Amino acid sequence: MTTPRLEIDFGKIGDNARSLVQRLGAKGIGVTGVTKATLGSPDIARELIAAGVRGLADSRIENLRALRESGVRVPLTLLRSPAPDQADEAAACANVVMTTDLDVAMALSDAASRTGRLVGIIVMVELGDLREGVMPADLADVCRRVHRTAGLTLTGIGTNLACQSGVVPEVAQMQELSALATIVESKIGRQLAVVSGGNSASLGWALSAAPPERVNDLRLGESILLGLDPLTRTPVEGLHTDAITLVASVIESRVKPAQPWGKLAQGAFGAVVPVTARSRGQIIQTILAVGEQDVDPRDISLPAGVSVLGASSDHLVVETPLQLAAGTEVRMGVGYSALLRAMTSPFVAERPTLPVAAPARARS
Ligand SMILES: *Cc1c(COP(=O)(O)O)cnc(C)c1O
Repeated sequence: MTTPRLEIDFGKIGDNARSLVQRLGAKGIGVTGVTKATLGSPDIARELIAAGVRGLADSRIENLRALRESGVRVPLTLLRSPAPDQADEAAACANVVMTTDLDVAMALSDAASRTGRLVGIIVMVELGDLREGVMPADLADVCRRVHRTAGLTLTGIGTNLACQSGVVPEVAQMQELSALATIVESKIGRQLAVVSGGNSASLGWALSAAPPERVNDLRLGESILLGLDPLTRTPVEGLHTDAITLVASVIESRVKPAQPWGKLAQGAFGAVVPVTARSRGQIIQTILAVGEQDVDPRDISLPAGVSVLGASSDHLVVETPLQLAAGTEVRMGVGYSALLRAMTSPFVAERPTLPVAAPARARS
């Protein structure tokens, strides 16, 4: 079978999504399933929809288009603001667009008037992580202007934490977001449909005993796909962490000195492993046919006894306890960064693992 390949266990991803939909649903929080790490995979999308997500979201217009063209009919949200010149495409592919910029909103309004389709807007507010968001003091004004603009409907407000600076979503930010929702509602004279409290990093807050305040939506990708809490990269209780595996083939396996020889400068990707860490006599050095182009070698988990020595564009060099025949397949777990790269590399194949004996699951 072709390598490198990602093996994707849809059943486990469905289990993860279903578990989160149920646990959060009990607290009045809906799940928006985020597909960007899967390039907007329609197969993953169908799994998430069957699990009960309220809609799907992606940061790339191209991925939303792929979802739409595959026949997905749930509401689609564009997570990353389009530039003004992408407004037409954004309005054509997304039901809801997250943005912070009034010029973008006006361009979306023009696009909506051309197509006759309302564009929902979620205005993002900055609560300290310093990625996207209007400052809290400006939120109500931006929201009111969106609310009053033809072709747009103010769907709600949202925040994004723990991405750029690793700021932990806690009760304080969720209280602030909730208070802001109330202020915006009083300005526009109606309730907001969506108060979106963040990404997988907000799960710790949402699943704790604390009440959800006004937050009624989380946008979840990593936790569904990998079963991990991004704040600590530890498993979320009750979720599968092995739904996705990368498989690569051995192309060389030889006894070699652990230490390079000759005068040393930079390797293909900058600094190389310090010589001191390598002065261990002879080792079995094995090369897997996968590289920086296909995976983040710092974000994989290899079988027991196998460790990464280094990687270049196309070669992943590992130490193995035994010499392995060329063609031997080595399986590895992936973190978010490794997954993102593997999913977007045209050199990595995908092979779905469908449950064999399990009864057919309900699909919507
Ligand atoms: C990527 C992204 C998400 C999903 O993040 P996960 O950590 O994968 O759950 C949510 N919201 C925004 C704005 C994003 O860009």
